Amino acid sequence: MSHIFPRNSRAALPVIDRGEGVYLFDTTGKRYLDASGGAAVSCLGHSDRAVTEAIKAQLDRVAFAHTGFFTSEPAERLADLLVAHAPEGIARVWLVSGGSEAMEAALKLARQYMLESGQPGRHRVIARRQSYHGNTLGALATGGNMWRRTPFAPLLIETSHIAPCYAYRGRAEGESEAAYGRRVADELETEIERLGPETVMAFVAEPVVGATLGAVPAVPGYFRRIREICDRHGVLLILDEVMCGMGRTGTLFACEADGVAPDITAIAKGLGAGYQPVGAMLCTARIHDTIAAGSGFFQHGHTYMGHPTAAAAALAVVTRLTADGLVDRARVMGDKLDAALRATLGDHPHVGDIRGRGLFRGIELVEDRATRRPFDPGRKLHAQLKAAAFEAGLICYPMGGTLDGRRGDHILLAPPFIIDDSHVSEITEKLQFVLAALR
Ligand code: PLP
Repeated sequence: MSHIFPRNSRAALPVIDRGEGVYLFDTTGKRYLDASGGAAVSCLGHSDRAVTEAIKAQLDRVAFAHTGFFTSEPAERLADLLVAHAPEGIARVWLVSGGSEAMEAALKLARQYMLESGQPGRHRVIARRQSYHGNTLGALATGGNMWRRTPFAPLLIETSHIAPCYAYRGRAEGESEAAYGRRVADELETEIERLGPETVMAFVAEPVVGATLGAVPAVPGYFRRIREICDRHGVLLILDEVMCGMGRTGTLFACEADGVAPDITAIAKGLGAGYQPVGAMLCTARIHDTIAAGSGFFQHGHTYMGHPTAAAAALAVVTRLTADGLVDRARVMGDKLDAALRATLGDHPHVGDIRGRGLFRGIELVEDRATRRPFDPGRKLHAQLKAAAFEAGLICYPMGGTLDGRRGDHILLAPPFIIDDSHVSEITEKLQFVLAALR
């Protein structure tokens, strides 16, 4: 009997043995193509020597030193590299161990900034329906996915949720993309005015929505309008790039493609590429300097923040992404994957939408293409597809509740940036095989 408390007590999982490039092997020798990088984590595949060597070298020097006593060379160099490539205005990096921690830090920093800049009435957060920002209580309260929130609702701080920018479902017939983007962005202004701008602290969004919607970018112009509204009302823009950042969508920071810069952003997943648990919250000089000149102390922190070994891994990962052209490769291979998905699945009677950016792609499944009617949620189609793909040696990330936390199914793909044309073919062939059962 296992003493592990598993995610799912009813699932019998194979035991992982080793990883090689884009493949994982279990202890029976079965091979799986990791077409979702777990959950958009393994952007460099599973055997990147530059990263494993960097970790070993750091372990041989010093594994850990508490950030209350020391800074470290890998943490300093990582922060320099991230800031050199970050959106305009971003100047400081707060290193943590994962995405939820990065989002908690973002929320608490926003609040402390409001206090130290003489705006103590600002504490409210506005986010979007069908978003996911993590499972810790602050991050969970921010997320707009009902299924994840409901059991814990009595523990969650009050948050407002406006519509996501989800053109496949939200754009009205005859409405242009630009008009749709403006309409849903303007919901932010309506909500700020309803709450009273003097009480609103931040607006939080994923530039490309990941787990809950299945790789949905905003329409062009949406985020520029959001930025204008935030600026007009003195509201901080927090972009959650935990899943879509670090090159996943073809630019190191996803928001580059939307033409906006945040006040605070969160990254994780691809930052460590799975080699170490690491995340980061990044903020502008204005926010950092307000606190540095005020209390001088962000009232937050964790034991493992700025962990030297995790920082050494992330430094090697970001170096691979930026100096070795892997972000560009994500863009090129992403276009190829998109074309291959459209060619092989575009006419499938139950494929409603194929979308995404870079190597972050989503396939939304519908019972009826003409009306976009979703499958009966009782069927748990997403779980069946996940199991069938895994059986066929393909790891992908199907989820249910795409429309409203309950109805709808999609498959998320987020393969390593090192995939080549043969892997693209293997992904589409296996998906065709799995989806053939639906015809
Ligand atoms: N934010 C987004 C957009 C995510 O996709 C996730 C995880 O899937 C998180 C935050 C939470 O990250 P973690 O699971 O590392 O705590």
